[in-house]
Amino acid sequence: MNSTDEKAPGNEARLDRRNLLKLGLAGTAAALTSALPATAQAREDGIGVVKHDEFPMKISPDYKRFSEADTSFNRFTRAGKSFHRKPKPEENRPGYTSYDWALKVASKEIHNALINLTPAYQGTLPKVFKPAAFNPDFRFKDSAMAHAVIKRAARHFGADLVGITRHDPRWDYTHVREGKKYHKTEDVMGFVPKTVIVLGYEVDYETMRTAPSPLGDASQIDGYSRMSKTALQMVSFLSKLGFHAIGPGNGYGLTIPYAIAAGLGENSRMGLLVNHKYGPRLRLGKIYTDLELDEYYDKPTTFGVESFCKNCMHCADNCPSKSIPHDKEPSMGPPDDGQDWGFSNPGIRKWYVNCDTCLQYWSDSNTSCSSCVTTCPYNKPYFWHHRLIDKVNTILPGPLHKFMADMDLLHGYGQTFNTSAPAVFWDAKGREYDGFGG
Ligand code: SF4
Ligand code: SF4
Repeated sequence: MNSTDEKAPGNEARLDRRNLLKLGLAGTAAALTSALPATAQAREDGIGVVKHDEFPMKISPDYKRFSEADTSFNRFTRAGKSFHRKPKPEENRPGYTSYDWALKVASKEIHNALINLTPAYQGTLPKVFKPAAFNPDFRFKDSAMAHAVIKRAARHFGADLVGITRHDPRWDYTHVREGKKYHKTEDVMGFVPKTVIVLGYEVDYETMRTAPSPLGDASQIDGYSRMSKTALQMVSFLSKLGFHAIGPGNGYGLTIPYAIAAGLGENSRMGLLVNHKYGPRLRLGKIYTDLELDEYYDKPTTFGVESFCKNCMHCADNCPSKSIPHDKEPSMGPPDDGQDWGFSNPGIRKWYVNCDTCLQYWSDSNTSCSSCVTTCPYNKPYFWHHRLIDKVNTILPGPLHKFMADMDLLHGYGQTFNTSAPAVFWDAKGREYDGFGG
Protein backbone atom coordinates (compact mmCIF):
# COMPACT_ATOMS: atom_id res chain seq x y z
CA MET A 1 0.00 0.00 0.00
CA ASN A 2 1.40 3.40 -0.86
CA SER A 3 0.44 6.92 0.06
CA THR A 4 -1.41 7.45 -3.21
CA ASP A 5 -3.66 4.47 -2.48
CA GLU A 6 -4.31 5.68 1.07
CA LYS A 7 -5.39 9.12 -0.05
CA ALA A 8 -7.59 7.95 -2.94
CA PRO A 9 -11.21 9.18 -2.68
CA GLY A 10 -13.37 6.62 -0.97
CA ASN A 11 -10.51 5.05 0.94
CA GLU A 12 -10.73 7.43 3.92
CA ALA A 13 -13.18 5.17 5.74
CA ARG A 14 -10.51 2.51 6.00
CA LEU A 15 -8.07 4.91 7.64
CA ASP A 16 -9.35 4.46 11.16
CA ARG A 17 -7.07 4.25 14.17
CA ARG A 18 -6.85 0.47 13.93
CA ASN A 19 -5.58 0.65 10.35
CA LEU A 20 -3.11 3.35 11.27
CA LEU A 21 -1.89 1.09 14.07
CA LYS A 22 -1.50 -1.78 11.60
CA LEU A 23 0.44 0.55 9.35
CA GLY A 24 2.69 1.41 12.27
CA LEU A 25 3.27 -2.26 13.09
CA ALA A 26 3.97 -3.07 9.43
CA GLY A 27 6.37 -0.14 9.26
CA THR A 28 8.13 -1.36 12.38
CA ALA A 29 8.57 -4.85 10.99
CA ALA A 30 9.76 -3.58 7.63
CA ALA A 31 12.21 -1.20 9.20
CA LEU A 32 13.58 -3.79 11.59
CA THR A 33 14.22 -6.25 8.77
CA SER A 34 15.94 -3.67 6.57
CA ALA A 35 19.29 -1.97 7.10
CA LEU A 36 18.88 0.62 9.89
CA PRO A 37 20.36 4.08 9.44
CA ALA A 38 23.58 4.78 11.31
CA THR A 39 21.84 6.83 14.01
CA ALA A 40 19.44 3.99 14.79
CA GLN A 41 22.33 1.53 14.96
CA ALA A 42 23.98 3.85 17.49
CA ARG A 43 20.91 3.75 19.73
CA GLU A 44 21.31 2.98 23.40
CA ASP A 45 17.83 3.48 24.74
CA GLY A 46 15.36 2.02 22.29
CA ILE A 47 14.73 2.15 18.57
CA GLY A 48 15.89 5.44 17.09
CA VAL A 49 16.71 6.95 20.49
CA VAL A 50 20.26 8.24 20.81
CA LYS A 51 22.00 9.48 23.96
CA HIS A 52 24.73 12.06 23.39
CA ASP A 53 27.82 12.94 25.41
CA GLU A 54 27.87 16.46 23.98
CA PHE A 55 25.18 19.06 23.32
CA PRO A 56 23.41 17.63 20.25
CA MET A 57 23.07 20.84 18.20
CA LYS A 58 25.91 22.49 16.28
CA ILE A 59 27.08 25.69 17.98
CA SER A 60 29.35 28.21 16.23
CA PRO A 61 32.61 29.05 18.03
CA ASP A 62 31.47 32.68 17.63
CA TYR A 63 28.20 32.09 19.52
CA LYS A 64 27.75 34.76 22.19
CA ARG A 65 25.64 35.10 25.31
CA PHE A 66 23.27 38.03 25.18
CA SER A 67 21.32 40.26 27.52
CA GLU A 68 17.73 39.60 28.53
CA ALA A 69 17.14 43.08 27.08
CA ASP A 70 17.52 41.50 23.60
CA THR A 71 14.80 38.88 24.03
CA SER A 72 11.71 39.39 21.93
CA PHE A 73 9.44 39.93 24.97
CA ASN A 74 11.62 42.78 26.22
CA ARG A 75 12.09 44.36 22.78
CA PHE A 76 8.35 44.18 22.22
CA THR A 77 7.42 45.89 25.46
CA ARG A 78 10.26 48.43 25.16
CA ALA A 79 8.79 49.44 21.81
CA GLY A 80 5.65 50.46 23.73
CA LYS A 81 3.65 47.45 22.54
CA SER A 82 1.80 45.07 24.79
CA PHE A 83 0.16 41.71 24.61
CA HIS A 84 -2.32 40.01 26.94
CA ARG A 85 -4.55 43.00 27.29
CA LYS A 86 -7.63 43.08 29.50
CA PRO A 87 -10.14 40.21 29.34
CA LYS A 88 -12.77 40.84 26.69
CA PRO A 89 -15.43 38.13 27.07
CA GLU A 90 -17.48 37.20 24.01
CA GLU A 91 -20.33 35.12 25.44
CA ASN A 92 -21.31 33.54 22.11
CA ARG A 93 -17.80 32.62 21.03
CA PRO A 94 -16.54 29.19 22.21
CA GLY A 95 -13.33 29.50 24.22
CA TYR A 96 -13.81 33.28 24.75
CA THR A 97 -16.72 33.44 27.24
CA SER A 98 -16.55 34.91 30.75
CA TYR A 99 -15.79 31.49 32.24
CA ASP A 100 -13.00 30.87 29.72
CA TRP A 101 -11.44 34.21 30.65
CA ALA A 102 -11.97 33.53 34.36
CA LEU A 103 -10.14 30.21 34.03
CA LYS A 104 -7.25 31.93 32.28
CA VAL A 105 -6.85 34.75 34.79
CA ALA A 106 -7.36 32.50 37.86
CA SER A 107 -4.69 30.13 36.51
CA LYS A 108 -2.03 32.72 37.25
CA GLU A 109 -2.93 33.37 40.90
CA ILE A 110 -0.32 31.07 42.47
CA HIS A 111 2.38 32.57 40.29
CA ASN A 112 1.28 36.07 41.30
CA ALA A 113 1.33 35.14 45.00
CA LEU A 114 4.88 33.75 44.76
CA ILE A 115 6.33 36.35 42.39
CA ASN A 116 8.91 37.70 44.86
CA LEU A 117 10.16 34.20 45.75
CA THR A 118 10.10 32.07 42.61
CA PRO A 119 8.77 34.08 39.65
CA ALA A 120 8.11 32.07 36.51
CA TYR A 121 8.64 34.96 34.10
CA GLN A 122 11.49 37.32 33.31
CA GLY A 123 11.48 40.75 34.93
CA THR A 124 11.45 39.90 38.65
CA LEU A 125 14.49 38.59 40.53
CA PRO A 126 13.98 35.35 42.48
CA LYS A 127 14.88 35.18 46.17
CA VAL A 128 18.27 33.55 46.83
CA PHE A 129 17.78 30.68 49.27
CA LYS A 130 20.93 30.27 51.35
CA PRO A 131 22.13 27.06 53.02
CA ALA A 132 20.09 26.42 56.17
CA ALA A 133 20.83 22.77 56.86
CA PHE A 134 19.06 21.01 59.74
CA ASN A 135 22.27 19.02 60.13
CA PRO A 136 25.47 20.86 59.12
CA ASP A 137 27.26 17.51 58.75
CA PHE A 138 24.74 16.10 56.28
CA ARG A 139 26.24 14.78 53.02
CA PHE A 140 24.56 12.66 50.36
CA LYS A 141 26.08 9.16 50.35
CA ASP A 142 27.11 9.79 46.74
CA SER A 143 26.05 11.75 43.66
CA ALA A 144 23.85 8.91 42.39
CA MET A 145 21.79 9.19 45.56
CA ALA A 146 21.64 12.99 45.29
CA HIS A 147 20.46 12.68 41.67
CA ALA A 148 17.68 10.26 42.64
CA VAL A 149 16.56 12.28 45.68
CA ILE A 150 16.38 15.55 43.71
CA LYS A 151 14.27 13.95 40.99
CA ARG A 152 11.91 12.25 43.42
CA ALA A 153 11.42 15.45 45.41
CA ALA A 154 10.68 17.52 42.28
CA ARG A 155 8.05 15.00 41.16
CA HIS A 156 6.59 14.93 44.67
CA PHE A 157 6.21 18.72 44.48
CA GLY A 158 4.39 18.51 41.16
CA ALA A 159 6.80 18.43 38.20
CA ASP A 160 5.86 16.03 35.40
CA LEU A 161 9.41 15.92 34.06
CA VAL A 162 12.77 16.48 35.75
CA GLY A 163 16.17 16.61 34.08
CA ILE A 164 19.47 17.56 35.71
CA THR A 165 22.41 19.09 33.83
CA ARG A 166 25.61 20.97 34.53
CA HIS A 167 25.44 24.73 34.73
CA ASP A 168 26.50 26.09 31.31
CA PRO A 169 27.05 29.87 31.27
CA ARG A 170 26.54 29.93 27.47
CA TRP A 171 22.79 29.69 28.09
CA ASP A 172 22.61 32.38 30.79
CA TYR A 173 21.77 35.97 29.91
CA THR A 174 24.64 38.42 30.44
CA HIS A 175 22.17 40.76 32.17
CA VAL A 176 18.78 40.16 33.78
CA ARG A 177 15.92 42.58 34.21
CA GLU A 178 14.35 43.76 37.44
CA GLY A 179 11.51 46.07 36.50
CA LYS A 180 13.19 48.67 34.31
CA LYS A 181 16.72 48.02 35.61
CA TYR A 182 19.22 45.51 34.26
CA HIS A 183 21.79 43.72 36.44
CA LYS A 184 24.82 41.63 35.51
CA THR A 185 23.58 38.07 35.98
CA GLU A 186 26.58 36.97 38.07
CA ASP A 187 26.00 39.91 40.45
CA VAL A 188 22.46 38.87 41.39
CA MET A 189 22.86 35.06 41.21
CA GLY A 190 24.05 35.06 44.85
CA PHE A 191 26.36 32.03 44.46
CA VAL A 192 28.32 30.14 41.81
CA PRO A 193 25.91 27.60 40.32
CA LYS A 194 27.12 24.09 39.50
CA THR A 195 23.87 22.44 38.46
CA VAL A 196 20.61 23.34 36.73
CA ILE A 197 17.49 21.29 37.47
CA VAL A 198 15.00 21.58 34.61
CA LEU A 199 11.33 21.05 35.44
CA GLY A 200 8.64 20.26 32.87
CA TYR A 201 4.86 20.55 33.22
CA GLU A 202 2.34 18.97 30.91
CA VAL A 203 -0.09 21.43 29.33
CA ASP A 204 -3.60 19.97 29.18
CA TYR A 205 -4.44 18.37 25.83
CA GLU A 206 -8.13 19.37 25.86
CA THR A 207 -7.53 23.06 26.41
CA MET A 208 -4.79 23.14 23.79
CA ARG A 209 -7.25 21.76 21.22
CA THR A 210 -9.13 25.06 21.63
CA ALA A 211 -6.09 27.25 20.82
CA PRO A 212 -5.83 30.04 19.98
CA SER A 213 -8.25 31.13 22.70
CA PRO A 214 -8.25 32.34 26.32
CA LEU A 215 -9.27 28.78 27.24
CA GLY A 216 -6.22 27.48 25.35
CA ASP A 217 -4.06 29.93 27.32
CA ALA A 218 -5.45 28.76 30.67
CA SER A 219 -3.38 25.61 30.99
CA GLN A 220 -0.27 27.25 29.62
CA ILE A 221 -0.58 29.88 32.33
CA ASP A 222 -1.46 27.31 34.98
CA GLY A 223 1.90 25.74 34.04
CA TYR A 224 3.59 28.92 35.32
CA SER A 225 1.71 28.70 38.61
CA ARG A 226 2.70 25.05 38.97
CA MET A 227 6.28 26.01 38.12
CA SER A 228 6.40 28.69 40.82
CA LYS A 229 4.97 26.30 43.43
CA THR A 230 7.38 23.45 42.69
CA ALA A 231 10.35 25.81 42.43
CA LEU A 232 9.62 27.34 45.85
CA GLN A 233 9.36 23.92 47.46
CA MET A 234 12.51 22.69 45.69
CA VAL A 235 14.70 25.68 46.63
CA SER A 236 13.51 25.35 50.22
CA PHE A 237 14.31 21.61 50.11
CA LEU A 238 17.82 22.25 48.74
CA SER A 239 18.44 24.99 51.29
CA LYS A 240 17.52 22.63 54.15
CA LEU A 241 20.12 20.18 52.85
CA GLY A 242 22.84 22.85 52.92
CA PHE A 243 22.88 24.28 49.38
CA HIS A 244 22.19 27.60 47.70
CA ALA A 245 19.31 27.61 45.22
CA ILE A 246 17.18 29.99 43.16
CA GLY A 247 14.10 29.33 41.05
CA PRO A 248 13.85 31.96 38.28
CA GLY A 249 11.39 30.01 36.09
CA ASN A 250 12.14 30.96 32.51
CA GLY A 251 14.25 33.94 33.64
CA TYR A 252 18.08 34.23 34.01
CA GLY A 253 18.74 32.28 30.82
CA LEU A 254 17.45 30.18 27.95
CA THR A 255 15.51 27.23 29.32
CA ILE A 256 15.19 25.17 26.12
CA PRO A 257 18.96 24.55 25.69
CA TYR A 258 19.16 23.57 29.36
CA ALA A 259 16.18 21.20 28.84
CA ILE A 260 17.89 19.66 25.79
CA ALA A 261 21.13 19.25 27.75
CA ALA A 262 19.14 17.63 30.58
CA GLY A 263 17.66 15.02 28.22
CA LEU A 264 14.07 16.29 28.25
CA GLY A 265 13.67 16.45 24.47
CA GLU A 266 14.73 17.85 21.14
CA ASN A 267 14.49 21.21 19.45
CA SER A 268 11.93 21.49 16.63
CA ARG A 269 11.01 23.59 13.59
CA MET A 270 8.68 25.73 15.75
CA GLY A 271 11.57 26.43 18.18
CA LEU A 272 9.94 24.64 21.10
CA LEU A 273 11.17 21.57 22.94
CA VAL A 274 9.52 18.33 21.83
CA ASN A 275 9.43 15.74 24.59
CA HIS A 276 8.92 12.03 23.84
CA LYS A 277 5.83 11.86 26.08
CA TYR A 278 4.12 15.25 25.84
CA GLY A 279 5.46 16.51 22.50
CA PRO A 280 5.55 20.33 22.53
CA ARG A 281 2.70 20.52 25.08
CA LEU A 282 4.99 21.61 27.93
CA ARG A 283 5.96 24.52 30.17
CA LEU A 284 9.58 24.55 31.32
CA GLY A 285 11.28 26.13 34.31
CA LYS A 286 14.65 25.79 35.97
CA ILE A 287 16.43 25.89 39.31
CA TYR A 288 20.08 26.86 39.79
CA THR A 289 21.98 25.34 42.72
CA ASP A 290 25.56 24.86 43.91
CA LEU A 291 24.96 21.16 44.55
CA GLU A 292 27.55 19.31 42.41
CA LEU A 293 26.62 15.92 40.96
CA ASP A 294 30.00 14.91 39.46
CA GLU A 295 29.28 12.46 36.64
CA TYR A 296 25.61 11.94 37.60
CA TYR A 297 24.06 14.31 35.09
CA ASP A 298 21.41 13.39 32.54
CA LYS A 299 22.50 13.18 28.91
CA PRO A 300 20.93 14.87 25.91
CA THR A 301 18.65 12.45 24.07
CA THR A 302 17.37 12.68 20.50
CA PHE A 303 14.67 10.57 18.92
CA GLY A 304 14.32 11.80 15.34
CA VAL A 305 12.41 15.09 15.76
CA GLU A 306 14.73 17.12 13.51
CA SER A 307 14.48 14.50 10.79
CA PHE A 308 10.67 14.45 11.08
CA CYS A 309 10.46 18.27 11.02
CA LYS A 310 12.34 18.38 7.70
CA ASN A 311 9.33 16.82 5.97
CA CYS A 312 6.42 17.87 8.21
CA MET A 313 5.49 21.53 7.82
CA HIS A 314 2.28 21.58 9.87
CA CYS A 315 3.39 24.31 12.26
CA ALA A 316 4.73 26.49 9.43
CA ASP A 317 1.60 25.89 7.32
CA ASN A 318 -0.75 26.76 10.22
CA CYS A 319 1.07 29.69 11.82
CA PRO A 320 -1.34 32.63 11.41
CA SER A 321 1.53 35.16 11.36
CA LYS A 322 3.81 33.14 9.03
CA SER A 323 6.55 33.29 11.67
CA ILE A 324 7.80 29.71 11.22
CA PRO A 325 10.06 29.00 8.23
CA HIS A 326 9.41 26.37 5.55
CA ASP A 327 13.14 25.80 4.89
CA LYS A 328 13.87 22.11 4.59
CA GLU A 329 17.11 22.28 6.58
CA PRO A 330 17.95 24.14 9.80
CA SER A 331 20.62 26.86 9.53
CA MET A 332 23.11 28.80 11.67
CA GLY A 333 21.18 32.07 11.43
CA PRO A 334 17.90 33.56 10.19
CA PRO A 335 17.39 33.64 6.42
CA ASP A 336 18.83 36.59 4.51
CA ASP A 337 15.41 37.37 3.04
CA GLY A 338 15.04 41.09 3.64
CA GLN A 339 12.65 40.51 6.59
CA ASP A 340 13.41 42.29 9.87
CA TRP A 341 14.31 39.41 12.19
CA GLY A 342 15.31 41.61 15.12
CA PHE A 343 17.75 39.81 17.40
CA SER A 344 17.42 36.07 16.83
CA ASN A 345 20.35 34.53 18.74
CA PRO A 346 22.39 33.34 15.74
CA GLY A 347 25.14 30.72 15.90
CA ILE A 348 23.06 27.63 16.71
CA ARG A 349 21.97 25.23 13.96
CA LYS A 350 18.17 25.36 14.15
CA TRP A 351 15.10 26.73 12.42
CA TYR A 352 14.81 30.45 13.19
CA VAL A 353 11.32 31.62 14.17
CA ASN A 354 10.40 35.29 13.81
CA CYS A 355 9.43 36.00 17.42
CA ASP A 356 8.54 39.62 16.66
CA THR A 357 5.76 38.74 14.22
CA CYS A 358 4.65 35.90 16.55
CA LEU A 359 4.26 38.33 19.46
CA GLN A 360 2.49 40.82 17.25
CA TYR A 361 -0.08 38.10 16.53
CA TRP A 362 -0.44 37.45 20.28
CA SER A 363 -1.16 41.13 20.73
CA ASP A 364 -3.60 41.30 17.81
CA SER A 365 -5.49 38.13 18.85
CA ASN A 366 -5.31 38.83 22.62
CA THR A 367 -4.21 35.21 23.15
CA SER A 368 -0.92 33.32 23.43
CA CYS A 369 -1.86 31.67 20.12
CA SER A 370 -0.07 28.23 20.36
CA SER A 371 -1.51 27.08 17.03
CA CYS A 372 1.92 25.59 16.31
CA VAL A 373 1.70 23.39 19.42
CA THR A 374 -1.85 22.31 18.64
CA THR A 375 -1.09 21.34 15.07
CA CYS A 376 2.11 19.37 15.78
CA PRO A 377 1.85 15.59 15.18
CA TYR A 378 3.86 15.05 18.40
CA ASN A 379 1.02 16.69 20.36
CA LYS A 380 -1.09 13.71 21.38
CA PRO A 381 -2.73 12.23 24.43
CA TYR A 382 -0.41 9.58 25.86
CA PHE A 383 -1.84 6.48 24.13
CA TRP A 384 0.40 3.48 23.73
CA HIS A 385 -0.28 3.29 19.98
CA HIS A 386 0.63 6.94 19.52
CA ARG A 387 3.93 6.21 21.22
CA LEU A 388 4.45 3.22 18.95
CA ILE A 389 3.89 5.41 15.90
CA ASP A 390 6.36 7.96 17.31
CA LYS A 391 8.90 5.14 17.66
CA VAL A 392 8.27 4.02 14.10
CA ASN A 393 8.78 7.60 12.92
CA THR A 394 12.29 7.61 14.38
CA ILE A 395 13.47 4.98 11.93
CA LEU A 396 11.28 5.52 8.86
CA PRO A 397 13.03 7.34 6.01
CA GLY A 398 12.26 11.05 5.44
CA PRO A 399 9.62 10.89 2.68
CA LEU A 400 7.44 8.65 4.86
CA HIS A 401 7.48 11.32 7.56
CA LYS A 402 5.43 13.56 5.27
CA PHE A 403 2.97 10.69 4.81
CA MET A 404 2.76 10.10 8.58
CA ALA A 405 2.18 13.82 9.16
CA ASP A 406 -0.64 13.80 6.57
CA MET A 407 -2.16 10.76 8.30
CA ASP A 408 -2.32 12.82 11.47
CA LEU A 409 -4.59 15.40 9.83
CA LEU A 410 -6.72 12.66 8.28
CA HIS A 411 -7.38 11.32 11.76
CA GLY A 412 -8.69 14.65 12.95
CA TYR A 413 -5.61 15.72 14.92
CA GLY A 414 -3.74 18.96 14.51
CA GLN A 415 -6.72 21.23 13.90
CA THR A 416 -6.46 24.86 14.94
CA PHE A 417 -9.33 27.31 15.59
CA ASN A 418 -11.41 24.27 16.61
CA THR A 419 -14.74 25.78 17.73
CA SER A 420 -16.17 22.45 18.97
CA ALA A 421 -13.24 21.73 21.36
CA PRO A 422 -14.33 24.13 24.18
CA ALA A 423 -17.62 22.21 24.63
CA VAL A 424 -15.63 18.98 25.04
CA PHE A 425 -13.43 20.60 27.68
CA TRP A 426 -16.36 22.04 29.65
CA ASP A 427 -18.46 18.85 29.44
CA ALA A 428 -19.41 18.05 33.06
CA LYS A 429 -18.76 14.35 32.53
CA GLY A 430 -15.17 15.07 31.64
CA ARG A 431 -13.35 12.88 29.21
CA GLU A 432 -10.74 10.22 29.73
CA TYR A 433 -8.31 8.83 27.22
CA ASP A 434 -7.68 5.14 27.52
CA GLY A 435 -6.39 4.40 24.03
CA PHE A 436 -9.48 2.34 23.13
CA GLY A 437 -11.65 5.09 21.74
CA GLY A 438 -12.45 6.64 25.14
S1 SF4 B 1 2.47 30.91 18.67
FE1 SF4 B 1 1.14 31.22 16.84
S2 SF4 B 1 1.98 33.04 15.83
FE2 SF4 B 1 3.57 32.26 17.22
S3 SF4 B 1 4.85 30.88 16.02
FE3 SF4 B 1 3.27 29.60 17.01
S4 SF4 B 1 1.62 29.51 15.47
FE4 SF4 B 1 2.93 31.23 14.88
S1 SF4 C 1 4.45 20.54 13.40
FE1 SF4 C 1 5.80 19.18 12.25
S2 SF4 C 1 7.46 20.52 11.53
FE2 SF4 C 1 6.42 21.59 13.19
S3 SF4 C 1 7.56 21.06 15.04
FE3 SF4 C 1 5.87 19.58 14.88
S4 SF4 C 1 6.76 17.84 13.79
FE4 SF4 C 1 8.15 19.58 13.47
